[in-house]
Amino acid sequence: MKGNGYEAIKELIRPNIAALVPYSCARNDFAGTAEVYLDANENWRDFVGDAGRNRYPDPLSTKVRKSVERALGLPASSLVIGNGSDEIIDLLMRIFCIPGKDSVLLMPPTYGAYRVFADINDVGTVSCPLTEDFQIDFPALERTLAQERLSRRAEGGRCKLLFVCSPNNPTGNAFPVDQIRRVCDLFDGVTVVDEAYFDFSPYPSAATLLDRYPRLVVLRTLSKSWALANARVGIAVACEAIVRTMIDTKYPYNLGGPSQDLAVQALSKVDEVKAAARRIVEARIALARRLEDLPVTLRVFSSDANFLLVKVRDPDGLCLWLRERGIIIRNRSRELHCEGCVRITVGSEAENERLVEALERYGRR
Ligand code: PMP
Repeated sequence: MKGNGYEAIKELIRPNIAALVPYSCARNDFAGTAEVYLDANENWRDFVGDAGRNRYPDPLSTKVRKSVERALGLPASSLVIGNGSDEIIDLLMRIFCIPGKDSVLLMPPTYGAYRVFADINDVGTVSCPLTEDFQIDFPALERTLAQERLSRRAEGGRCKLLFVCSPNNPTGNAFPVDQIRRVCDLFDGVTVVDEAYFDFSPYPSAATLLDRYPRLVVLRTLSKSWALANARVGIAVACEAIVRTMIDTKYPYNLGGPSQDLAVQALSKVDEVKAAARRIVEARIALARRLEDLPVTLRVFSSDANFLLVKVRDPDGLCLWLRERGIIIRNRSRELHCEGCVRITVGSEAENERLVEALERYGRR
C-alpha cells in the first residue's frame, strides 16, 4: 500500500487501514478475457437488462476512469470512482479518522453531509465558520489549527481532514485556487476540495495543485452538470498513495455496471454537457435578475453554481406556500449566516418561469 505520496500521508492513515490486507475479489485475480468464468459464483445466464448483468462489475471502474481522463483531462491513474461523491467523503473519513479520537475541520455554512458522515463514523468536527460574506476566515483558521495542534497531545486524537467546498453549497460562491493553496499550506492533514459544482464556476480547479500537494483530494461528481444523479457516480482525484488506499478500503464492487455504462456514455458528450452547463449559468444570471426585482426578495447572493441562495421575508412561510403549489425549494434559513435564506436550483426555462410567476403571486396575495 505504498506509492507516490505515501511518505506525506503515512502518519495520517488509521493504523488498521495502513496494515490492511485488502479483500481480493475474483475480478481482481483475473483481469483478461476468458471463455468460461466459473470463478465468482455468478449465475451463468442473465434474466434482465443488457447482456452481462449476471456478472460482477469492474471493481476499478476502468472504462469510467479512462472516459474521465479523456473528458476532463484528469489522469486515469489518479482517479477513484465512488458511489457518488458521498461514498468518497465517507471513505476518506474511514481511511484517516480514528473513531472516537480524530476529527475533521468544517467551514460552515457548507454541505451538511460532511457533518453527518463524521457523526456516523464517530468522528469529531472542528468548526471554523466562513465569514459573514461566505469567505474563508484565514485568521480564524490559523487560530483554530494552532489550538488543535496544542490539544493533540492531551487528547490523543488529531484533525485529519479539512473540507473546502468550492463552489460552496449552500452559499454558491467558489474560492480561488490561491486560497485553496493557502489552506493546504496551513493544514497538516488532508485537504479535501469538493468541486461538485465545478462546471458552473469560472474558477480553475484545485486539481492543478495535486503535483505539489500530496495531502490533497479533489472531488467531482456526475450528479450535477453531467445530469447523472440517478447513477451515483463520484470521482476522487489524488496522489497514488491515497488512490491505492481508497481502492483497498472501498467496497470491492462499489459501482454497479449500469451506472458505469451510463457514466461512460455521459462522458462521451463532453461538448454537449459543457454547452448545457453554460446555458444553466446564463439561466442562473437571468433568474437572479428576475428574483432581485420581486418584493419577496431581500437579497440574491452571487453564485458560481447551478443554484441561488436567496434571502427572503419569511422563508418558512414561503417554502410552505410554494410546496402547496407543487414547487419545492430548500429552506436553508437555519444554517449559520443564512438567516432568512432559501436555496433555489436553476431548472429548465419553464420551471424557472413557473417559480417566478408563483413568487409574483405570493407577493400579491
Ligand atoms: N458535494 C456537494 C457539495 C453536494 O452538494 C453534493 C450533493 N448535493 C454532493 C457532494 C454529493 O454528490 P453525489 O451525488 O456525487 O454523492
